[in-house]
Amino acid sequence: MIPMSKIWDRLGAIQVKQCNGISTPCPRCGGALVEPMGANARSKHVLILICRICEYEEATSSVPKPIEHWHFVDGMIEESRRDSEYQPGAGGCRT
Ligand SMILES: [Zn+2]
Repeated sequence: MIPMSKIWDRLGAIQVKQCNGISTPCPRCGGALVEPMGANARSKHVLILICRICEYEEATSSVPKPIEHWHFVDGMIEESRRDSEYQPGAGGCRT
């Protein structure tokens, strides 16, 4: 599990990039954002730019997608797995 504080930290880092006009993937789905950054949609739930598909999903879904299920968190889970690769009992067999 990724601590929520780390998730918000990472989201903040993405936000800073976007504010500076640096292109990022859509943090919600991992899809492409368009250039310039300001032309993308804003999430209804967090202060971040998302793609038009996610904007549509947010607009049509009554339940917000939990932040821990956003695409950028998958990358963090992958990173933490790699970091814990050599800890005993961390993951069982790897083939
Ligand atoms: Zn998206």
